[in-house]
Amino acid sequence: MAETVLSLRDIHKSFGGQEVLRGIDLDVTEGEVVCLLGPSGSGKSTLLRTINHLEPPDGGAVFLRDELIGYREANGKLVELTDRVLARQRAKFGMVFQGFNLFPHLSALENVVEAPVLVKREDPEQARARARELLASVGLADRADAYPRHLSGGQQQRVAIARALAMSPAVLLFDEPTSALDPELVGEVLEVMRRLAARGMTMLVVTHEIGFAKDVADRVVFLDGGVVVEQGTAAEVLANPRRRRTREFLTHVR
Ligand code: ADP
Ligand code: MG
Repeated sequence: MAETVLSLRDIHKSFGGQEVLRGIDLDVTEGEVVCLLGPSGSGKSTLLRTINHLEPPDGGAVFLRDELIGYREANGKLVELTDRVLARQRAKFGMVFQGFNLFPHLSALENVVEAPVLVKREDPEQARARARELLASVGLADRADAYPRHLSGGQQQRVAIARALAMSPAVLLFDEPTSALDPELVGEVLEVMRRLAARGMTMLVVTHEIGFAKDVADRVVFLDGGVVVEQGTAAEVLANPRRRRTREFLTHVR
């Protein structure tokens, strides 16, 4: 049995009076690729954001290996962590968003070097050498000194992946990483993600790319209305969905 890396236990989250996450349980094991599908507004982004405590959950708990995320216990009560300790926990999650979110005033290389040096206090020279390797691994060896505005969306997103990898995360979280890209640039980003999956990276991927989910996902989880409606292998959920809501969703995205 592969070791569990990430555990979500009964996650609840409301905004105003609206309950957006209504009790989510999810385990991701070492090396597993889980694709999270669901209609717009079903709570996918909120769920990803609760994982690294960008959105503190109202109820439930997130564990990375056995470490509770966002809180510590004091006198039998849960107390929210200080920003410094939280930053150390967040460094264990790599996050890649829909928008590329690179620092516009930094080159590709400097974007990748930033967090290891500032957060992890890595030696700058070593961090730069590692960043060059990471940029090469996403096919951007020759673009290290380019600024984001001179890179295509696909290249920027590959820099964002290299930047996430630079922190040696335990899990990579992707939130619709190809949704903002021109169609002809989607493939190069999915190819990088495929290679990461093949190398054994643990990944939780929110995506509408059904082909990617079919080929790469070890498990597909379908979310609707803040609950997991159904989950299973890609063959089960995508080829033979049992739930009406899953079937309806799939007819719209194909
Ligand atoms: P998805 O990523 O599946 O499209 P989201 O998690 O972004 O869904 O949003 C789920 C619901 O929560 C939506 O109705 C959205 O409007 C609402 N929501 C998300 N973030 C906030 C926020 N910060 N404040 C208020 N409502 C929010
Ligand atoms: Mg979203």
